[in-house]
Amino acid sequence: EVDVRALRKTFGTGADANEVLRGIDLSVAAGQVVCVIGPSGSGKSTLLRCVNLLEEPTSGQVFVGGTEVTDPDVDIDAVRRRIGMVFQHFNLFPHLTVTGNLTLPQRRVLGRGRARAAAVAAENLARVGLADKADAYPAQLSGGQQQRVAIARALAMGPEVMLFDEPTSALDPELVGDVLAVMRSLADDGMTMIVVTHEMGFAREVADRVVFMDGGRIVEEGTPHDVLTTPREERTRAFLARVA
Ligand code: ATP
Ligand code: MG
Repeated sequence: EVDVRALRKTFGTGADANEVLRGIDLSVAAGQVVCVIGPSGSGKSTLLRCVNLLEEPTSGQVFVGGTEVTDPDVDIDAVRRRIGMVFQHFNLFPHLTVTGNLTLPQRRVLGRGRARAAAVAAENLARVGLADKADAYPAQLSGGQQQRVAIARALAMGPEVMLFDEPTSALDPELVGDVLAVMRSLADDGMTMIVVTHEMGFAREVADRVVFMDGGRIVEEGTPHDVLTTPREERTRAFLARVA
């Protein structure tokens, strides 16, 4: 479903060049959940951003659902519609209700009519447990609820793949669980997901595979047990000792 081949990304040029991704190969089969862990600056966000072309890869290829999204002739907007992304900061429109936040992109990007967009919004709000907040404004919701709205907004677009970039790291600890529960139910429903996270419990329980990145490379990958319990690489062990 997602295939990343020999992906490289360099920011800047000449003496200022910073090679942030140094040849990433990663395959995520349909319905799989891959959790990406690693220290700050290791390139995790850049990897996700290259998958949905928020950053242009310097070289290498990315395929989503068999389409090469790095093909220069590809329709970038069409690609982005197939990939949902959830960030640390949810960026809801403060002047729109929850329903408004979910219907606007469906209408603008997918051209759905008002009634259809509202129906899909309601369906996805129910999916994240927020059917009763349809008419609330973002400021009236907790951070965890806002993040679940952001997830519902992405789902309403009907993505084939969901990318999560530390979706719980800006939340108060007591709000993290509800967001992780929604992500877990998505995984159970068979969504293909790449999740950058510091939540080792989530990675252990939900991931099919865990990928440890350091210095722009995948240092180690395998089952959660392989990588989190019996890591082979010293760098992985040192990282886990720091975050545990
Ligand atoms: P964190 O855990 O802190 O989120 P990360 O693993 O997500 O870290 P990235 O955000 O991918 O790391 O950043 C990797 C490197 O790329 C960093 O050195 C960062 O400064 C650099 N970088 C990221 N985005 C840009 C950009 N737009 N321009 C220049 N450098 C960038
Ligand atoms: Mg990051």
